[in-house]
Amino acid sequence: MLLAFKFLIKARKICSKLFELIISICEFLTIESKLIKASPTLKLGEIARQKQSEGEDVLSLALGEPDFLTPKYILDATSKAMYDGFTHYSTPQGLLELRTAIKNDYVKRFSAKYSEDEIIIFPGAKAAIFAALSALLEPNDEVIIISPYYVSYPPMIKLAEYKTKSIDIPLNEDFSLPINKIKSVITNNTKVLILNYPNNPTGQLLSKDEMREIAKIISSYKNLYLIADEIYEKLVFSNDKFISFAGFEEIKDKTIIINGYSKSYAMTGFRIGYALASKEVIYKMNLFNQNTNTNTNTFVQKGVLSIYENGDDHLNEYNKTLSFRTNYLHEEINKIPYLTGIKPKGGFYYFVNISKTKMKSVVFANLLLNNYNLVVTPGIAFGNSFDNHIRVPLSTEIDNLKRAIEILRKLSF
Ligand code: PMP
Repeated sequence: MLLAFKFLIKARKICSKLFELIISICEFLTIESKLIKASPTLKLGEIARQKQSEGEDVLSLALGEPDFLTPKYILDATSKAMYDGFTHYSTPQGLLELRTAIKNDYVKRFSAKYSEDEIIIFPGAKAAIFAALSALLEPNDEVIIISPYYVSYPPMIKLAEYKTKSIDIPLNEDFSLPINKIKSVITNNTKVLILNYPNNPTGQLLSKDEMREIAKIISSYKNLYLIADEIYEKLVFSNDKFISFAGFEEIKDKTIIINGYSKSYAMTGFRIGYALASKEVIYKMNLFNQNTNTNTNTFVQKGVLSIYENGDDHLNEYNKTLSFRTNYLHEEINKIPYLTGIKPKGGFYYFVNISKTKMKSVVFANLLLNNYNLVVTPGIAFGNSFDNHIRVPLSTEIDNLKRAIEILRKLSF
């Protein structure tokens, strides 16, 4: 009797957990139907943490965070700045010395000439993107996003201006940019094209020729701006080099370059990023900033200044590590009969094609979570056309990737 009672309690607990999981996963499917939804990647991370806190051994491959420590020189410079008294407001646009450092860096690396007035510091690249959208968008404007897209673009567009229309152009099957399709949907109402290279989640780069084509499109429409999200620019591990849109002088006034320190310096928790754009756009973004953030954390701004004195030595090692993990995943994934993948060149994700399973991405992710405690991000989070993919991060120990591959090998369809 007691045993039966215990069994019933346990069964009830399992059922209610499963129910919670199903509810959470179902939220992915409605992500674009409401104004603000929980970020699906953060949501999955939460589920994983919840299971972990209950003592389960969960392999969470949901979030994309660098898996190295913030370089010590940045920690030292940041804590020194705090003790030196940089604990008050700074100018909303960001410390002048930091904007000068960014200006010099862009001249040196991309021969791109920006003045300090054309640079603004934000609490993260995400905040900079949102401010750019808020500065540019007006009712009835159209925004072109390319799927698979960074999960926060659609909600940010709606939050910036509710009466906008997002036009989702899926990448070609080989993950190349469908330039003619982009051209074909532009109207006089199209205000913004958002591009993200190196891309989250495909890991692809744009070639110089493709970028020239984009620059031509941007130049030929008076009202059209380009938001170039280049947050992963320093995480490149292929023979192809990263090229910044900052170097395209002819569209400088109509381009907003987004960048930051989260990914390349393992500073996701510091919250700092920046944007480069024309004085007019920066002015509007600054108005937005003044009235929402006031400024970016002052001692964190001082801390990142040290980056411009110390350089990026840690990245050589990290990019080698990412390359090693990419090669491993690429080989193993393509050996599994129901999976295929295109090798990433930068960023830190592998976007795996699961179409041969004939399963929708949420169902597949759910299966991995429920049966194997493995968390991956379902492709639908990156756009409706990618419900036949899952995203696996490269920013995790090779042993974790090996465990994930072991699990994936076990499945049969
Ligand atoms: N853009 C892309 C494409 C990203 O993947 C991320 C982080 N996941 C961001 C922007 C936001 O970066 P930050 O931490 O600087 O806000």
